[in-house]
Amino acid sequence: MKKVSIVVPMYNEEAMVELFLSTLMEVIKKEKDYEFEIVAINDGSKDETLNLLYEAMKKYPMLRVVNLSRNFGHESAVAAGLSVASGDAVIPIDADLQDPPEVISGMLELFAKGYDVVNARRASRKEDTFIKRYTANKFYKVLDRISGKVKVPQNVGHFRLISRRVCDEVVKLTESSRVFRVQVPYVGYKTGEVVFARPKRPKGESHYNFASMFDLAFNSIISTTIKPVYWPLKLAVFLAIMTGLSFVTELTLFLINLFNNSLLVGVNHPLWLVINMILLVGTFLMFALGLIAIYVGKTFIESQKRPFFIIESIKENKK
Ligand code: UDP
Ligand code: MG
Repeated sequence: MKKVSIVVPMYNEEAMVELFLSTLMEVIKKEKDYEFEIVAINDGSKDETLNLLYEAMKKYPMLRVVNLSRNFGHESAVAAGLSVASGDAVIPIDADLQDPPEVISGMLELFAKGYDVVNARRASRKEDTFIKRYTANKFYKVLDRISGKVKVPQNVGHFRLISRRVCDEVVKLTESSRVFRVQVPYVGYKTGEVVFARPKRPKGESHYNFASMFDLAFNSIISTTIKPVYWPLKLAVFLAIMTGLSFVTELTLFLINLFNNSLLVGVNHPLWLVINMILLVGTFLMFALGLIAIYVGKTFIESQKRPFFIIESIKENKK
């Protein structure tokens, strides 16, 4: 029988522990074809979360509790859970029931059909504030435009199913600034999708504020692509063209003026020359910056030490 690991990070979730586990159990009970383990990661909670989890272990034998030494943050907590999970399929899920456990059934159906990744995509962002919806939309547009070969799916968070081999590859990625939602598409494999409506948090509080959303957005872009490092160079080329045009125009006007000084008397050549020199220096600086940026970007890619290919299978005839 195949085993499924449910990985749930918890930070100050005392209000949710029992509610989450009992709701999840309702779903697990119905899935007779699979064996389950629940890996709960206590991410340095300052409330009773850990004790409640230990208490719950008596009631739910398949519950394993991983206690982190301090608060490391959502991404790290999930990474810790993935490294401990032993299932043939692994499903990270939030403790606040905003990722409805019912969706797991749909994921398992696709898993049985041979999908290695099953994303749970939020159908709409109706329940979000206008600002959050707007920024999220714009963010995904920008990310999509610059992301190159790694396609990060829209409106998919941590909640998804990944197979054993995908989980192993994600755990193997060495970068310390981890963004799960980028790592999974980086690893690849056959990917399917289920759609769900995201409810509001029933109890407790969201741990994300505007600053951490910004942080996540920034990390997502940086760990997907280094394309922005080419922007200074592009700006340098643009500046160079502008500078050239400006010089040529000034020189032409200057020459016209030399031969016929009744024409174009209003042109302030000394001032224009100063502006041209500033443009020229700016262009040089921008080129220098552009070069440095590219080297820094390449160094960043190298330092991530990601595998530059992952072989899914090899087929060959026997000799
Ligand atoms: N979480 C965590 N460590 C943190 C912050 C959050 O493990 O430092 C967990 C939290 O307990 C929850 C999940 O990450 O299970 C998502 O957090 P939250 O619901 O606050 O995020 P939101 O749904 O508002 O994006
Ligand atoms: Mg939440």
